[in-house]
Amino acid sequence: MKTLPTERALIASLRERLQAQPENLSGRRGAVRLGIGDDCAILRIPRGHEVLLTTDMSLEIIHFRRDWHSPESVGHRCLARGLSDLAAMGARPLAAFLSLALPQELTVPQRGRPTWRDRFFAGLLALARQHAIPLAGGDTAQSPARSGMRADNTRSRNTHVGNIRPDSTGLVMADIVLVGSAPRQRAMLRATAKAGDRIYVTGHLGGAAAELAALAAHPRRFAKAIITSDVSPTRHPHLFPQPRLAVGQALRIRRLATAAIDLSDGLSTDLDHLCEESGLGAVIDAACLPMHPLLGALGAMPLAAMEERLQLALHGGEDYELLFTASPKTRLPRRIAGVPITCIGEMLSCKRGLPRMQLAGSGTRLIPLRSAGWEHYRRR
Ligand SMILES: [Mg+2]
Repeated sequence: MKTLPTERALIASLRERLQAQPENLSGRRGAVRLGIGDDCAILRIPRGHEVLLTTDMSLEIIHFRRDWHSPESVGHRCLARGLSDLAAMGARPLAAFLSLALPQELTVPQRGRPTWRDRFFAGLLALARQHAIPLAGGDTAQSPARSGMRADNTRSRNTHVGNIRPDSTGLVMADIVLVGSAPRQRAMLRATAKAGDRIYVTGHLGGAAAELAALAAHPRRFAKAIITSDVSPTRHPHLFPQPRLAVGQALRIRRLATAAIDLSDGLSTDLDHLCEESGLGAVIDAACLPMHPLLGALGAMPLAAMEERLQLALHGGEDYELLFTASPKTRLPRRIAGVPITCIGEMLSCKRGLPRMQLAGSGTRLIPLRSAGWEHYRRR
């Protein structure tokens, strides 16, 4: 980690905090031989394994809002996004690296309260502890002021974010790098599904989009309640999503899946990626989609209509569940690592003139399923 003079105290306190965590021990069993404090970290890769690497950027206004998300939630989500990518490939996480740019005022303690930065790290490290992943390095910088910049007409994932008051504070940017490993040639890929394979998802769909809609409607209601990531992911699928690492590793170890992807951008978009990489089409049965209980809890909101719920389950992003395919001959348990598994459709060979993805609804007719989840930088 580079040491700017103003950041020395942070690094010292982080180092102290991290060294107290068993997963950060540089001992014989840990993957991190050398962590924070030198120019580079040194990792040990298990014999016969390959390294899997993923990076994810969390940008204020684009991926979160400071007036909607607690710092703990931002820290949790930052790490969860990277971990979900490792989960999708069945990898075991070895270490995380974080580059963080913050406006100065978020690093200055006021009236003895923990700073935004401290609370961000509390959220991130709580999830790291849960999955025994060491934070082995990174970089910090002060985010420059953005005086006069307006944030109107931008989107935070799938929900329109408007009317952000212009101010002169800088923006938060967190970039996380996750390093994982898997036995050589055994990582699960997007490109290896076969025609006739069944399509499965873990957990429930649409919960994150439902919670985001509720958050957008009542940001203040969430502000005080959400200060810890030790909360039920069922209650807070958007604020504290749970990456499905145990399921991903079980699928790989038991060789159950033919292909896999994580649901970060929405079922329709992520399934489309898998179809494209595998050169196949897919049909999804709308009646089989495991709807998140929060979709029902939207009761009083106009979103509660059945059609709206279906749209959120199909296109709402950030559920961070896994979507995987398996041979029709493979018997899948109802739960893996305690997480429910649901069959939602089938992979098909691509036929000319037919849409790549189709949806089976209540009638016998198939309707085209359009990829309509989150796409970065797309203006809608
Ligand atoms: Mg992914």
